[in-house]
Amino acid sequence: MACNRRIFFRLIGALTLAGGASTWRTARAAQAPGGGAAAAYEVTHSDAEWRKLLTDAQYRVLREAGTERPFTSPLNDEHRAGTFACAGCKLPLFSSKTKFDSGTGWPSFWQPLDHAVITHTDKSFGMTRDEVLCRRCGGHLGHVFDDGPKPTGLRYCMNGLAMTFTPATGA
Ligand SMILES: [Zn+2]
Repeated sequence: MACNRRIFFRLIGALTLAGGASTWRTARAAQAPGGGAAAAYEVTHSDAEWRKLLTDAQYRVLREAGTERPFTSPLNDEHRAGTFACAGCKLPLFSSKTKFDSGTGWPSFWQPLDHAVITHTDKSFGMTRDEVLCRRCGGHLGHVFDDGPKPTGLRYCMNGLAMTFTPATGA
């Protein structure tokens, strides 16, 4: 499935990019949605600040577009009512109402909350995919595919590391 292939290609990319993570990030920053200058997100931090704010694993996903190993996130088995938010800036991203079990090993949703995410075409590693980013801080969340369930037919394949979960209160 697509997410599995992705890990493989990311690995190849990591081995090929002798320049290392900083070169990769610079390249990514230059391909801002809509072209031109790097996107001006509402929440921005220096690289050093992000490293302090995030765990190493979160940093690899959110700031370096890494992919967690499937079936490793506790959020896969989170079935309570509540909200999934960006681990980088706390922006609410998904409602538990749109979560479904895709069988891929990554938390999956058929629809994000309004104005929560942005997508842009990711043509890295010879594939064309739609990368999903947090609208507020630009953190990498995962990809969206068109093989999801009704009503949207979309499958937002997210990294659990990129999100936090808050159960609904008073339920
Ligand atoms: Zn964010």
